[in-house]
Amino acid sequence: MAAGKETKKKRNIPRKDTKQEKAEEKNIDAANHIAAEELVAAEVEAKKEASEEAAAPEVQEKEVTETKGGIVGGEAPRDEKKKSEEPLWAPKTELGRKVLNKEITDIMQIFNSGRRITEPEIADMLLPVESEIIMIGGSTGKGGGIRRTPSKRTTRMHKSGRRYTTSALVVAGNGNGIVGLGFAAGPPAKHRELMEKALQKAKLGMIPIRRGCGSWECSCAKPHSIPFAVSGKSGSVVIELKPAPNGIGLCVSDEVKKVMRAAGIKDIWSKTRGQTQSRINLIKAAFDALKRLDRFKVQESQLKSAGMVEGKAE
Ligand SMILES: [Zn+2]
Repeated sequence: MAAGKETKKKRNIPRKDTKQEKAEEKNIDAANHIAAEELVAAEVEAKKEASEEAAAPEVQEKEVTETKGGIVGGEAPRDEKKKSEEPLWAPKTELGRKVLNKEITDIMQIFNSGRRITEPEIADMLLPVESEIIMIGGSTGKGGGIRRTPSKRTTRMHKSGRRYTTSALVVAGNGNGIVGLGFAAGPPAKHRELMEKALQKAKLGMIPIRRGCGSWECSCAKPHSIPFAVSGKSGSVVIELKPAPNGIGLCVSDEVKKVMRAAGIKDIWSKTRGQTQSRINLIKAAFDALKRLDRFKVQESQLKSAGMVEGKAE
């Protein structure tokens, strides 16, 4: 009989949960909408700021360095502080300091010396970073099919009920040979911070990729495609990228297109295998393939015929 009572209790518990769940789901859906809009708005604002900064960046920085070195605690720099409080970046690494002091002006200097980006601001300083959120989430809705959302919510069971985790995937690139991928996961309440975190991670993970024209139908020796076929893997997903002739466009799924656009690849063919509906793995596999372009040794004759370029093309 005791067992019967327990089952009754258990039956009662989930009813309370469902109401909460519904409320939470609504919140998350609303947050998804707002987050996407906000990110776009934030990007526009950032671009505006960047363009304003670009108008007179040298003057500001010189003043800042002077105040750091010479006048300390004076009353004069107060106004400057007010102006520069928000956009000012205090580098934590030596590499960051060099970038701020304009000792390094080209991102390829960093990559060619075998180093990687140590602070997200380095990418902002040296590159016109464009980022896109990858729609990794989804919820079933009216009319069939899946409505795709920028953040994915997963559930795990706990003694006290269900615990939720949301995750976000962002691709960042300069649209010219340099891309990065960032993934972040955390509680649903920190939804917006997650997007930001994923973007910062994407900037940190930026790498130069090889581009060229490896298509025998084209052989124009311009970096509009990739120099040779590669394959990448993540989980069960295997993606094979093949060079395509000029004008073909991006013959890949919509989410992979975002990666290719960020990388500055214009024409490509692909073939996939595995659970490609799990978009996190699909994107990771595509990025893995682009990474692997770097692993092949290329003869100089091939290099010229494919017109291979590593990283930024002038
Ligand atoms: Zn070509």
